[in-house]
Amino acid sequence: MEKTTRREFIRKAGLMTAAAVIAPEAVLSGRTPGHAGIYGHASGNGTGISKKPELEWRDFTGELKHTFTISGSSRSSTPIVLTKLTWNGVTGYGEASMPPYLGETQASVHEFLKKVREDVLPRFDDPFRIRDIMAETDRLAANNTAAKAAVDIALHDLTGKIMGQPWWKIWGFTPGNTPCTSFTIGFDADDGTVREKTKEASWAKILKVKLGMGEEQDRRMIRLIRSMNPSTPICIDANQGWKDRYMALDMIGWLEEQGVVMIEQPMPAYDLDSHAWLTERSPLPVIADESCQRLNDIRRLHGAFHGINIKLMKCTGMREAREMVTLAEALGMKLMIGCMTETSVAISAAAQLSPEMEWADLDGNILLANDCFDGMKLENGKITLSDMPGIGVKSKGYIPRF
Ligand SMILES: [Mg+2]
Repeated sequence: MEKTTRREFIRKAGLMTAAAVIAPEAVLSGRTPGHAGIYGHASGNGTGISKKPELEWRDFTGELKHTFTISGSSRSSTPIVLTKLTWNGVTGYGEASMPPYLGETQASVHEFLKKVREDVLPRFDDPFRIRDIMAETDRLAANNTAAKAAVDIALHDLTGKIMGQPWWKIWGFTPGNTPCTSFTIGFDADDGTVREKTKEASWAKILKVKLGMGEEQDRRMIRLIRSMNPSTPICIDANQGWKDRYMALDMIGWLEEQGVVMIEQPMPAYDLDSHAWLTERSPLPVIADESCQRLNDIRRLHGAFHGINIKLMKCTGMREAREMVTLAEALGMKLMIGCMTETSVAISAAAQLSPEMEWADLDGNILLANDCFDGMKLENGKITLSDMPGIGVKSKGYIPRF
């Protein structure tokens, strides 16, 4: 099986080399691949197999099963842009998910992807040069991390498919080490809704509860959940909602008695002093989310937090996420992987890293009423990794059709 796969890879790599020899002008010319249609469609070369990269994208609205409230905002849908990158006849999928509070929109993602298609991709003749392609993509503009992730994920899906292997295998991770994903219960002022969500989460082996609405409301949420579910471990995400370090420490002490196992971003992202103070005293691990965006943040956070929450939409995708894992592990920091409201495309991409994680919060696709891809599966709440190559996804065949 392994030999066949290797032979297949060598054959495909040979074809790619042949393509570069036969039609170098098509591969290396730097011609922009077709005009930007309404969805950014790039036309093919008429042979059925494109030898140059073609990047397309489609808007998608992720409809949430329940209105989602966190400290600071509330919403019932999330704007998403799905990408499709075809290179040497192989197709990879990617995704940008843009919760409004992070500042990206479908329009800003379109603008960014146009630049990638016109200024970056034509300069490369090999999709395996992910490091260089992503470095050039990163240089196009600051921020735009979800748009960058949409390129990175598609590149990984594409190259994984060429190799015929999923990325968890290429990286050499142990599939049995995947954690159970937590299932998120957003804050709600209505007791009936909290009860309904707690019931819906009864399958989960670990819960994630959004707090940070004030001491009284936070305790009410936990008491209500515990009245229905006395024992499932709970991760808390305060989303920067606690403003006072003494109150935060007091809350953490009380939460530990309630069977809480971890606290995510208790205080404002900029306030590393308070987090360092809290981390020194907290009986539970304190994990950075909003404080930790990218690889370069990690050194600064060492000592202020016990660990970091990596999200592909924050850190520009799988390449940088893999490097964050290495650095955090070298510094002895705990690891968590999280998500936005995402389809199975971005969730399955993140799942490739999950064997290295102590906690995973990869429920974004489950919170959607209209996930348009099949991908990462859960078995009894635990993430299971398939042998499907790349990021391991398959379109369900309905919208958005590429
Ligand atoms: Mg969080």
